Amino acid sequence: MKKVIVANWKMHPASEREAIALARAGDRENIVIAPPFPFLHVVRKTLKRAMLGAQDVFFENPKQGGAYTSAVSADMLKNAGVKWVVVGHSERRTLGETDAMINEKIKTALKVGLTVLLCVGENRNVRKKGLRAAERFVKKQLERDLRGIEKHSTKKVLIAYEPIWAIGTGKAEKVEETTAMIRFIKKTLYPKPYSFFPKVLYGGSVDERNIKAVLRSSADGVLVGGSSINERIFKTLLQNANRA
Ligand code: PEP
Repeated sequence: MKKVIVANWKMHPASEREAIALARAGDRENIVIAPPFPFLHVVRKTLKRAMLGAQDVFFENPKQGGAYTSAVSADMLKNAGVKWVVVGHSERRTLGETDAMINEKIKTALKVGLTVLLCVGENRNVRKKGLRAAERFVKKQLERDLRGIEKHSTKKVLIAYEPIWAIGTGKAEKVEETTAMIRFIKKTLYPKPYSFFPKVLYGGSVDERNIKAVLRSSADGVLVGGSSINERIFKTLLQNANRA
């Protein structure tokens, strides 16, 4: 698999017209576009090469639907043409999402055949204590979030290492440190207790200037937020990614 670029549009853009333009800008092989729920349909119709992603999924998926106001189930996503789902983004964790909820979301998404991108990463306070402290923090997240994931499902789980202090700040982590953390995550998951060697992406202030360096590192791809919601910047980022 070539390195993958996942575009997390977060709560952007405001209109369908802008969503179509952005989707056109990102419609290439090995790209996943994760728009807000209201634009899934129109983005799906626009994409010819890129894959459709969602930014979240609810942890319950009753066949007959259920009384869960505002929730979007794994079946709904699948039937809307979604292939990938982002789970455990730090912006969701900040709003109260627990590791137990994330664990259930992953299981629910895998059951319907979605590919899961699990986000993990430490905050600034943890990182200030050093790389070892960050590793311990991330290891705990991985253990809790991936508890009980069956072996046969694990090829469909990718990890996005996203140090929270680097998200949306314009201060990406140094490539050497990202490399160290990615190595650590792979070592933590393989060969025990999880018998799979996961792809690990990096996320946190990846932009059109640093994309080449990040893709040349050991990261198996990138999760891009802010730089995927401006058509011009997104296009330049993808052009530069091609040259990496
Ligand atoms: C993200 O939303 O996961 C992210 C990495 O955002 P940004 O690229 O804006 O830092």
